[in-house]
Amino acid sequence: MHVVNEDYTRVLAVPCDMFIAGYGTTHTNALRLWDAKSPTPIDMGLFSRGDYLKAGEEKAMAEVIAKVLYPEDNHYEGKSLRLRQQYFFVSATVQSIVRKHIQAYGTLTNFHEKNVIQINDTHPTLVIPELMRILMDDAGLDWDTAWHITSNSVAYTNHTVLAEALERWPQTLMETLLPRIWQIICEIARRWQEKVTAYYCGDESKVRNMAVIWDGEVRMANLCIAGGTAVNGVSALHSDILRNDVFRDACSMEPEKFKNVTNGIDHRRWLAEINPGLDKLIRDLTGGDGYLLHPGTELPKLDKFANDKEVLLRLGQIKRANKETFAKYAKKAQGFLINPDAIFDVQVKRLHEYKRQLLSVLHIIHIYHQLQDHPNMDIHPHTFIFGAKAAPGYAVAKRIIRLINSLADQINNDPICKDKLQVFFMENYRVSLAEVLMPASEVSQQISTAGKEASGTGNMKFMMNGALTVGTLDGANVEMHEVLGDENMFLFGLKTEEVKEMRDIGYNPFNLYTRDPNLHRVLDHINNGFRDGVRYDDLVQRLLLGVNGSPADEYMLLADFAAYCAAERRMAETYADQKKWNQMSLHNIARSGIFAADRSIADYAETIWHVPYKK
Ligand SMILES: *Cc1c(COP(=O)(O)O)cnc(C)c1O
Repeated sequence: MHVVNEDYTRVLAVPCDMFIAGYGTTHTNALRLWDAKSPTPIDMGLFSRGDYLKAGEEKAMAEVIAKVLYPEDNHYEGKSLRLRQQYFFVSATVQSIVRKHIQAYGTLTNFHEKNVIQINDTHPTLVIPELMRILMDDAGLDWDTAWHITSNSVAYTNHTVLAEALERWPQTLMETLLPRIWQIICEIARRWQEKVTAYYCGDESKVRNMAVIWDGEVRMANLCIAGGTAVNGVSALHSDILRNDVFRDACSMEPEKFKNVTNGIDHRRWLAEINPGLDKLIRDLTGGDGYLLHPGTELPKLDKFANDKEVLLRLGQIKRANKETFAKYAKKAQGFLINPDAIFDVQVKRLHEYKRQLLSVLHIIHIYHQLQDHPNMDIHPHTFIFGAKAAPGYAVAKRIIRLINSLADQINNDPICKDKLQVFFMENYRVSLAEVLMPASEVSQQISTAGKEASGTGNMKFMMNGALTVGTLDGANVEMHEVLGDENMFLFGLKTEEVKEMRDIGYNPFNLYTRDPNLHRVLDHINNGFRDGVRYDDLVQRLLLGVNGSPADEYMLLADFAAYCAAERRMAETYADQKKWNQMSLHNIARSGIFAADRSIADYAETIWHVPYKK
């Protein structure tokens, strides 16, 4: 068979290599980025006839492909331009890898022995049919050989269990935009279905669950499972949920395919670079900068200074200095006057209902009510700092941001709260803001509904900068708890299994609202609004009644409310004992080695890529 492409749009992929220098090595990697250019200049015929828009149309259509990074987070949007973008990046990259491989080896038959393509979420899934296309249509290999090579060189990392975030492209879009790719996907789907049917003796529910094409849609995660040599989650809990729940049937059929690689972040970037005071203390105590290459063996040396008064004092002074730096930054950036003596209690992450910024709001309003009832109540000054971007089309997320701003306006202007309670919403949360905030943070809010956060990496950034976590047993918080124990973090709330059980027996948030007077008062307050006159009855309705299709309190904020308030109380009581607090903080830094990016990469090398990796 000879495939001939006709009437296609040509787009020129222009590589732009960023060189990434390693630390403590002479090796440098190239991160290849692509720009999209039109291979044809503007149409001078049309231009000279005065049709300026039409003259530049083809060029504009080609160049728009690489213009935007889609801002949706943990949500899938079936946009045509997005699919074109995915295919563009995938095709350019696979062609580039294949070209280099042929230059080196003169053949593609050993491609899978020399290359691994790690699919980071489902966005680059089209590498599977694209590599098949190149191996068959361009290199002339037969299906079985091409499949052997492809399925042994591709591995898939899943990043979410949220159904609304799993990509499913409409068949019609795939068919009209990428007809040859569609043909190949169909054949992959057919053979996969044959295999599944044989394994499960025709059990229809399994065939439906595992199908690559179903109900007029292409399911990208299932395509990855079918075409990949490994599937991994990004924390121990998340990988277990993939095995036992989300991809249960696929895992029963091919259990050895399913792995875990817990995420990591870089101590060089998220500690040494942004927190020079702490970096200096660690060097002094561990005898040099060895921790930058071996955080897992060097940082634990800090543990033995837990009773060294001077060290604890220094740790407290470093944090205090970083808080002042951040307060100055916040004043300059947004005109906020943050009290540097207050507890810096921070929740920064993308805005999403499952991350439960709203739960934190409920708790702050509860403290506010206590202050209203007892204006002379003795509390340590407490400053809540939020930062979060919302996807443009995520209306509820934007309502929650507005609510936080209404609440901040109310609390920061109420004399009762003076020197006791503050709320700030920092705009434009991004890495450069995180870099000033992490070293200054004392409390890290990691309060997602158990089972919903795949890993989290913000949690790790806070930990290595000495903040203490108030959190649920979710994502990588589980591994954090394993190294810290109950005594070095503030855990609360339902566990993954309990969330499921409560759903199964019929969760009724309205009962909690009726029975818990604190919660009742908080929700009524949100319902009636704040001094700026904005009411948030829509958000209260979502919690108590549910709104068009989504169940009442889908993320179980009300079920965890009392436990969360109690955890925050434990936190505040501990804060009053600064020696104890600094000890806990030191233990957090000392045990953050497991979250090193180098450890994560070593795990990929060992368990998925099967390449030697010097530790
Ligand atoms: C680390 C980071 C995140 C991820 O935070 P999570 O709390 O893990 O969701 C998001 N945005 C920015 C700017 C970050 O630096």
